[in-house]
Amino acid sequence: MSQEKQATFNRRRFLKHTGQGAMLIPLLSVTGQSVWAAEKIKEDDPTAVALGYVHDATKVDLAKFPKRAGEEGAKQFCDNCSQYKATEDGWGTCAIFPNKLVAAKGWCNVWVPMA
Ligand code: SF4
Repeated sequence: MSQEKQATFNRRRFLKHTGQGAMLIPLLSVTGQSVWAAEKIKEDDPTAVALGYVHDATKVDLAKFPKRAGEEGAKQFCDNCSQYKATEDGWGTCAIFPNKLVAAKGWCNVWVPMA
């Protein structure tokens, strides 16, 4: 294959592949899905431990994190926190834990009510 034909062939392959990629971006934007699947955060993740994150907000150590104590505290869950965005059944993304999913009924000490 001549160099000119090889260059044309490579250009076609490049355009074909980048074209397919470009078609995916609007589709993913419409669905709200991330290209990179986030994994569920582990409770023993160092940041999660530091912020008192748990999958089940009723299991928060209230001695360490009194913010969730009392009648008002008991109403705090990830799914009513301003940092939460639901992505799949019972899970969602959180701005505090990039590329991780947090439980809808979880909680951490950064909890902020939705505006
Ligand atoms: Fe849940 Fe909000 Fe803490 Fe994120 S910042 S883990 S959504 S309570």
